[in-house]
Amino acid sequence: MTADWTPLGDPTLGTEHEEVGGIWRKRTGLRAIVAIHSTALGPSLGGTRFKPYGSVAEALNDVLRLSRGMSYKSAMAGLQLGGGKAVIIGEPAKLRSPEFFKDYAAFLDSFGGRYYTAEDVGTSQADMDELGRYTSYVTGRSAEVGGSGDPSPVTAYGVFRAMQAAAEKLWGDPSLSGRTIAISGVGKVGSTLARLAAAEGAKLVVADVDQQAVEALVEAVGAIPAEVSEIHRTHCDIYAPCALGGALNEGTVPELACEAVVGAANNQLSVPEMADALASRHIAYVPDYVANAGGVINIAYERGGYDPVAARAHVGRIYETVLELFTKAEASGETLEAVADRTAEERMAQAASA
Ligand code: NAD
Repeated sequence: MTADWTPLGDPTLGTEHEEVGGIWRKRTGLRAIVAIHSTALGPSLGGTRFKPYGSVAEALNDVLRLSRGMSYKSAMAGLQLGGGKAVIIGEPAKLRSPEFFKDYAAFLDSFGGRYYTAEDVGTSQADMDELGRYTSYVTGRSAEVGGSGDPSPVTAYGVFRAMQAAAEKLWGDPSLSGRTIAISGVGKVGSTLARLAAAEGAKLVVADVDQQAVEALVEAVGAIPAEVSEIHRTHCDIYAPCALGGALNEGTVPELACEAVVGAANNQLSVPEMADALASRHIAYVPDYVANAGGVINIAYERGGYDPVAARAHVGRIYETVLELFTKAEASGETLEAVADRTAEERMAQAASA
């Protein structure tokens, strides 16, 4: 009998990965998995997600899926980086200690530079600084220790550039002046995005579970507040999911009243088929991993000494990337998502065969 090695029954997951490794350390409670999806374009890079997963299978599924996503994100961002990711199973507040991070750093070292980690859900910049004391395979450290600092402002700038490209293609002018933009989630990225768009003359509608975050933008840029459960129905030019994943789902997509979706949130499509559902409603969906690549582009510029000017210029080129996606999609009749996926796959295949 052949054993089934497929995590959680997804036959595609895991089969393409170059390497997956795990560590269990009783003395510190470290239970981590690193997945390297591809190093075709360069060393793999992706954050460490730290949370109390319900099962090892769930954690494995997450790390395989997220590392694959990082390969596509870096490839489409034009970076010489591959895709990897790490998960740590457990409660961050209970497990964090210098000894814990020493164990984790030794585990990262064991990949010999084929995987670089960064901040993600459940890990902080302070954690990266602490890890950086024990391993060099860490990015996204604070500016004080030579890192690139908080990636949120530059991520917001990238989403803003993606919006300008969509505006150019859809309305013949990259300016967002006079456009209505509805932002769901005005945290670190969404609030900066709102300010950038407002500075260009856009009208903002914003929603967040945190009322203070909404109030701040009502005061600062005259944003119109909306209910969290209603924001996706706003009649607007661009809808920007900037909170949680799965914002584009069976319930929300039929109710959207926008011409384009361009946002920062990861995994906006609840299932891949939602890209077709959006297309059939003639809504242009700029793939999340293309629009929100500013953060990974920024940390890529830490190698050899952080260069903020070059990093920002590279993030600005998300504009050209999105224009190119529109042009290719018009020619082939595919969605922007399908074109982006194929382009990323071609780049990786080309690099692997070179
Ligand atoms: P954040 O935690 O600062 O902001 C998220 C905001 O969403 C918070 O203000 C929160 O209150 C709000 N929120 C939570 N649930 C909500 C709901 N149901 N409806 C509306 N608002 C809700 O996070 P962030 O750094 O701004 O990141 C936002 C998204 O962008 C995340 O999906 C993140 O994975 C993604 N992203 C961020 C970066 C980055 O550089 N920070 C890079 C790439 C992708």
